[in-house]
Amino acid sequence: MAKSKRSGPGFPKPYRRRPPAMVTADPASTALAILGIEVVQCVQDLANSVQLIANKATVVRVYLDPASVTRAGKVAGEIAWSRGAAEAYLPALNTISIDPSKPAQLNQQRADASNSLNFKLPPEALEAGQLRIRLSRLFQPGGADLPIGDSAIVDVVLNKAPPLRIRVIGLRYNNGERDVSPAAIHFAYLKSFLLRAYPIASLEWSQIVVDADFKAPLDESTADLANAQLAALRSREVSSGVDARTHYFGLVDDDGSRNFMRGKAFTIPGTPQPDVVASGPAGVPNGFAGDRDASYADWYGAHELGHTFGRYHPGFPQGQQDASDANFPYANGCISTPDGTFAGLDVGDPTLNLPIAALAGIDHHDVMTYANDQWLSPYTYKAILDRLIAEDTL
Ligand SMILES: [Zn+2]
Repeated sequence: MAKSKRSGPGFPKPYRRRPPAMVTADPASTALAILGIEVVQCVQDLANSVQLIANKATVVRVYLDPASVTRAGKVAGEIAWSRGAAEAYLPALNTISIDPSKPAQLNQQRADASNSLNFKLPPEALEAGQLRIRLSRLFQPGGADLPIGDSAIVDVVLNKAPPLRIRVIGLRYNNGERDVSPAAIHFAYLKSFLLRAYPIASLEWSQIVVDADFKAPLDESTADLANAQLAALRSREVSSGVDARTHYFGLVDDDGSRNFMRGKAFTIPGTPQPDVVASGPAGVPNGFAGDRDASYADWYGAHELGHTFGRYHPGFPQGQQDASDANFPYANGCISTPDGTFAGLDVGDPTLNLPIAALAGIDHHDVMTYANDQWLSPYTYKAILDRLIAEDTL
């Protein structure tokens, strides 16, 4: 072919640049060692013993051993997932920096989402049934493949779970000057939190705002009034066709913290009873219970709803909460045993600008406590799942 002058964009020339910092597998170990592969939806351990729910957002976290490389650098990766047939390949969401001079312990890695290679499984991988995950490739970004150590495969099972059926009623009250009702963001945070943290893959969700049967100032009796109103509304709506398994939850705005309604469930049912209603406050947390995002309606609502699924208080912080749940298994109300066996992962929500976040098991507390930084422990997760399954058959 004759040479011709090119017009338009210049043809890329081979270029030289400084190569990225080298990661080379330690000759003594010959491969980059894998410390663990965790398949997590809400909270998990390295044995992947927490039940996985079909069609729920799922992240695979791969932990590598910094001591198995000779020099610091970045590592990228791919997994292959399969369901009994051909494998499909998936790149990690991120790269990680590993440094043999600063070997992060496994639980330190689990406490920080930027210290694991994270893979967001696609919907096709999340149908009910067996799922195999294989770490198929490690490489330097833009560079050579790195040899992979043993234990590169995990097998897990995904189980179907019922939806959470919930109708959220914003209760509009008068504060003496004007009507106060929860902003849309509070409904959105509660909905998102339940989908991320509860043992569910889907919500049957509806929301409305109605005039409350109470006025400001709100006091200790307000939640009782709210619950009575909800119970009456629920009764009417269920007799005109709403699914009788639907939980009703009342949301009461705190009026810029001028009118805080302490949340309450009507009762704590020992058997499946979706007709038990609950109410809770909504507002901007400004650090309330360690929360610095745009709403505390999320974990607060998840707590009150937890009561309607039969969950009691673990009793933390001591002296501030009754210990009505004698079976709560973890010290200090945490989501893990003190050795950090369990670690939480919040898959995040781009629509609310919430990133993926790792939640260290000993720094986070069960949603049924009154302690800071709440998430679901495996204990509460399992208990709510069991109750949801029992309610689904009603
Ligand atoms: Zn409570």
